[in-house]
Amino acid sequence: MVIPPTPVRTAAEYRPLRGTPIQISVTSEQPHGRACIHDAEESGALVPAGHVYTPTSGSPLGWPVVAHPQCIEETAHVEH
Ligand SMILES: [Zn+2]
Repeated sequence: MVIPPTPVRTAAEYRPLRGTPIQISVTSEQPHGRACIHDAEESGALVPAGHVYTPTSGSPLGWPVVAHPQCIEETAHVEH
């Protein structure tokens, strides 16, 4: 029996282009711009979507992240 590896998730602060920062957990792929920051999907058109800041022993590390345009729209509407 093979146990599939659990994706490692890290607590991070997401600062979208619009709206207020929120606390999320990210996979190792999301801070590298390889997966949508909202749903972790790697397929489809991905556009720049702000930054994620992961905690370190020093100051937080900022990563440029990407998202599907429709995911950004949905989030923007929620925050109104
Ligand atoms: Zn998405």
